[in-house]
Amino acid sequence: MNFDLSEEHLALKQLVRDFAESEVAPVAEQLDEQAQFPYDLVKKMGLLGLTGLIFAKEYGGRGADILSFAIAIEELARVDSSMAITLAADVSLGGGPINLFGTDEQKRKWLTPLALGEVLGSMGLTEPGAGSDAGATQTTAVLDGDEWVINGSKEFITNSGTEMSGFVTITAVTGEWDGRREISNIVVPRGTAGYSQAESYKKMGWHASDTHELSFVDCRVPRENLLGERGHGFKQLLQVLDGGRISVAAIGLGLAQGCFEMALAFAKERTWAGQPLSRSQAVQFKLADMATNVELARLMLYKAAVLQSQGRPFVEEASMAKLFASEIAVKAADEAVGIIGIESQNHPINRFFRDAKILTIGEGTSEIQRMVLARFLGC
Ligand SMILES: Cc1cc2nc3c(=O)[nH]c(=O)nc-3n(C[C@H](O)[C@H](O)[C@H](O)COP(=O)(O)OP(=O)(O)OC[C@H]3O[C@@H](n4cnc5c(N)ncnc54)[C@H](O)[C@@H]3O)c2cc1C
Repeated sequence: MNFDLSEEHLALKQLVRDFAESEVAPVAEQLDEQAQFPYDLVKKMGLLGLTGLIFAKEYGGRGADILSFAIAIEELARVDSSMAITLAADVSLGGGPINLFGTDEQKRKWLTPLALGEVLGSMGLTEPGAGSDAGATQTTAVLDGDEWVINGSKEFITNSGTEMSGFVTITAVTGEWDGRREISNIVVPRGTAGYSQAESYKKMGWHASDTHELSFVDCRVPRENLLGERGHGFKQLLQVLDGGRISVAAIGLGLAQGCFEMALAFAKERTWAGQPLSRSQAVQFKLADMATNVELARLMLYKAAVLQSQGRPFVEEASMAKLFASEIAVKAADEAVGIIGIESQNHPINRFFRDAKILTIGEGTSEIQRMVLARFLGC
């Protein structure tokens, strides 16, 4: 067992840290306040190779492993979760389904521009009555000649409404089979007639990330936009979410690391009764717990990422990593606000606090992760 990162991983970590500290950090507060999508920074992530990091070179990618992706997301989230989720959703929800289930032609058409950072991809699974219960999707796609006719709506879809958004892969009911609803995944390019988006949501956190409600009214796309086998959509999306949990865990880890660093710096600088706050045992215990949780989350996440890269079973570990990292992120943000006190109102920790909670909800809530894990326990 070797806990050291390779030279390639360390170089990538440094590259993303430099980008995050020198280009993202100086504007993160303003982007958050103005709920502004950072086009220049997102394009820069493409130029740095981050959007194509884990995809094959023949589709414009860099052929790196999942651990590299996790490290990149972690480093972004240490500074700003909006940037981290933009990349995470683009790669794992936008590129992921096409990479896993697409034909060579579909990969050339949709994955290559995404990997090169020219377009953003998204995945539309959630509907008003279908979040955790993803199979309850009401959106339908009916084959009419050589076209799918799609009707329905999706809510809270990340990366779906920017000028760079290229396509959304949606889950839709495409028929009934053996008395059961048949669900399939279909790629819908942005700009297709009958496909529209609502205004941006006013969200609790992730203000600089793009999230929209989408509607489809007699929206027609070619038959060949079906991803993988017809009727395999539910199985496919579970596979996509398994991988996605690694990226959400990485955001949790990065966010918790950022909170810990801010709390530690504040505690060392702020004096109380003539002593730095960090001399107080009550504060020291909080910082010690934060540091421990961050390190545990990192170990679990890196293990899951390495297992996935090696093609070994990783679902249980990814679920544990997502559950643990997201919950310690919420806790770290809470403790850091407590340590920073009233000054947190005008401090980046304010943004981290608002950005944390969604991590325990998106890509499977904490309750859903515990259900997944209980199944592994044979319960
Ligand atoms: C900012 C943001 C970005 C998002 N981006 C995307 C995206 O890009 N694509 C996409 O498809 N979705 C996206 N989502 C949606 C997200 O994935 C869902 O919010 C999530 O899956 C939970 O679904 P829900 O909110 O409908 O909650 P529900 O499923 O309604 O759950 C509500 C509560 O009930 C609990 N619960 C539900 N079922 C059970 C059960 N069987 N046992 C015990 N407890 C249960 C849940 O844990 C939760 O606490 C996004 C959401 C947000 C806020």
